Amino acid sequence: MNLKEIGEFGFIERIRRKCSPDTGGAVLGIGDDCAVIPYDDQSCLLITTDLLIEHIHFLVDKISFRTLGRKALAVNLSDIAAMGGKPQYAFLSLAIPQQTQLDSLDRLIDGFTEMADAFHVTLLGGDTTSCRRDLGISVTVTGTMPCNQVLYRSGAKIGDAILVSGPLGGSVAGLHILLQNLPLENYPELIAAHNDPEPEVRLGRAVAESRLASAMIDLSDGVASDLGHICAESGVGAEVYAAAVPVHGCAASLARETGSDALSWALYGGEDYRLLLTAPQECVDSLLNIGRCLERELTVIGTIRSGNEVVLHRDQSEQIITGKGFNHFKGQ
Ligand code: ADP
Ligand code: MG
Repeated sequence: MNLKEIGEFGFIERIRRKCSPDTGGAVLGIGDDCAVIPYDDQSCLLITTDLLIEHIHFLVDKISFRTLGRKALAVNLSDIAAMGGKPQYAFLSLAIPQQTQLDSLDRLIDGFTEMADAFHVTLLGGDTTSCRRDLGISVTVTGTMPCNQVLYRSGAKIGDAILVSGPLGGSVAGLHILLQNLPLENYPELIAAHNDPEPEVRLGRAVAESRLASAMIDLSDGVASDLGHICAESGVGAEVYAAAVPVHGCAASLARETGSDALSWALYGGEDYRLLLTAPQECVDSLLNIGRCLERELTVIGTIRSGNEVVLHRDQSEQIITGKGFNHFKGQ
């Protein structure tokens, strides 16, 4: 067996099997958006880490260093949001190619601190090293929240509604514009959706505080993949209604112009950093209201079912889409 066959998630599962912590269930380690550690009687500590590598996650001629600094923190804040937590502290580690301009790095830090200030996060440390090529940015963020509000991937129940905070598909549509060298000025919203995502910290916190949802995840790899994680961790399946998926309006226009499928971008594209949550049907109206109060639109896109697959209903047909989406090593 090789890495390409098992893919990113198969490899993570291998690590998980080798070192599952024997903590009597007091700590949640590998398998969710953040590790969750009980802190005192009522609160939990959340910890998450994400690594961005040049040429894999970004191209320096397609994103400004300032925006890159913002995004490096934003993707971690999104994982804190996915548990319903309040971000608190950050650590920033950089592997810097020798020829990098100091001015570029200053702008990277400016962007990082801009995002940190917006979410009241304090940078507490990190590490700096040189490297041969390819800038690497590793960020760790901690957060806190009441233990009885933590939203895990494992809480979805059969019959629950599946909701997303849309719109979806904007990020990969923006990536399409950047990679195809299409005129950037035509779709600034899509470039922003890809390069400068806004983490859903406020919505995640409000959903957790309401205690109405049963599970939550952030959409970093696309609905098919990330809903698949909820299903795997909860021991359930899911059905998604294509017609209900909130496709980004500008992505839909671009898809029409370029002969692409906007629904595929929305379901398999990834990097939208919106939230996907499940909740009992009777809680849906209240959750939609919470979204409205924060000017964030939540949309019901499906239902949790028995089984272990994510099934897409589109134009009278059914298709299994479990795990379709971005996966390092599998080349999807
Ligand atoms: P996310 O997309 O939310 O950042 P990932 O898919 O990157 O989550 O990771 C899923 C889970 O696997 C997380 O709990 C993460 O901490 C864990 N994980 C990923 N890579 C490693 C690794 N190299 N060693 C240990 N745990 C890992
Ligand atoms: Mg995540």
